[in-house]
Amino acid sequence: MNILVLNCGSSSVKFQLINTDAQLIEQNTDKRLAYGVIERIGGPALVNFSVVNTDGTSRSQREAVPLRDHSAAIEKIMQWIISPEANIPGITSYTDIAAIGHRVVHGGEELTKSMLIDDEVIRQIEDCIDLAPLHNPQNLKGIYAIKKVFGGTAKQVAVFDTAFHHTLPDYAYLYAIPYQFYRRHKIRRYGFHGVSHRYVQFRYRTLLGLERENVNVISIHLGNGCSICAIKGGRSLDTSMGMTPLEGLVMGTRSGDIDPAILEHLAHKEGYSMAEVESVLNKQSGLLGISGLTNDMRELVAEAVENDDRRAKLAIEVFAYRIKKYIGSYLAAMNGASAIIFTGGIGENSDYVRSKITSGLEWMGIQMNGERNKATTRGKEGKISEDGSRLEAWVIPTNEELMIARDTFRCVMGLESPR
Ligand code: ADP
Repeated sequence: MNILVLNCGSSSVKFQLINTDAQLIEQNTDKRLAYGVIERIGGPALVNFSVVNTDGTSRSQREAVPLRDHSAAIEKIMQWIISPEANIPGITSYTDIAAIGHRVVHGGEELTKSMLIDDEVIRQIEDCIDLAPLHNPQNLKGIYAIKKVFGGTAKQVAVFDTAFHHTLPDYAYLYAIPYQFYRRHKIRRYGFHGVSHRYVQFRYRTLLGLERENVNVISIHLGNGCSICAIKGGRSLDTSMGMTPLEGLVMGTRSGDIDPAILEHLAHKEGYSMAEVESVLNKQSGLLGISGLTNDMRELVAEAVENDDRRAKLAIEVFAYRIKKYIGSYLAAMNGASAIIFTGGIGENSDYVRSKITSGLEWMGIQMNGERNKATTRGKEGKISEDGSRLEAWVIPTNEELMIARDTFRCVMGLESPR
């Protein structure tokens, strides 16, 4: 079954075309056929499409073309996928694509697993706009656009970033503010990156041959956005992102945890509106805010190592220290774990940042293996702690698109998809 996976942002659409079925899932041999991204939708958009060759290499094509909205962008993707120019094996018409899987950021309290999209599910995703005004409207644009391009007959599936965290107990998801605000406005922790954390626990259990119930790990997703998840018995027990993705770890441009009284103080001192304060916390803080240089960890590590830049070093220090504190608190919440697992662009690639985070955790039982840590980059998965380390450290590259494709397959076939 060929599945188109779509991730629609405010001015971009990312896609992957994945061939999967029950046997391929079982054997972990599902195939990525093509992938790409369209950026700057609404103006002269940048299109970057790639086809995966049989030997695993890709051939890419780039162009700039005016695309007025998400519908036009998706139409462009569809036309390319079926074109002789792309020449994707087995794909010559729209009917060769069995279903479309959408990444949807917020599913609120009701949408707790991946679902076949019908009018009722669309209404429920619309109901969550209030909770995710920056994200859900973009995801919906993708769903509407597919309806338009395929004429309403396409099978579409929504896979929610929040769903994996629906198992959080009330004492972990409630904020200590008057209870009526939870009742009235659904203000609570939801958590995000759920597709990634679920994938990481799934791969870990596959690699070690464990039953889901026996997976007790801390999954640390470090990309542009960063979050950490305490996974006990294979289920999310707690996670650092909150009602929105702004809470928790230090991120590329987001502050993560902050004293809420700072908001009013900052508004008063700088003459900002609340919206401006929120924008500072979302877009000008984190690694970028502290370093004054960049939100890109690769550049920051280079500045710290090659130029001994004080603020770059400080940004990495604050970043790693926050993660350390969360690891400690989650080990307490879980009554211990067997491993911490790094994923996301930083977690998968930066041995430097991983060693900053894990240094000084010997008391907790982590004994790192420097050579393994250095050698584990660029898509490699494996253990980076010493054999016999009481708490292990692992790297498992995430693959959210694969999870979305598999969930889409299962929903279309009427199979139960894991939450
Ligand atoms: P997104 O969250 O947008 O999917 P990624 O997971 O791709 O982002 O992560 C992007 C981050 O990973 C950037 O900060 C980038 O600098 C960082 N990164 C990628 N490779 C390296 C590397 N070799 N060393 C340090 N950071 C890296």
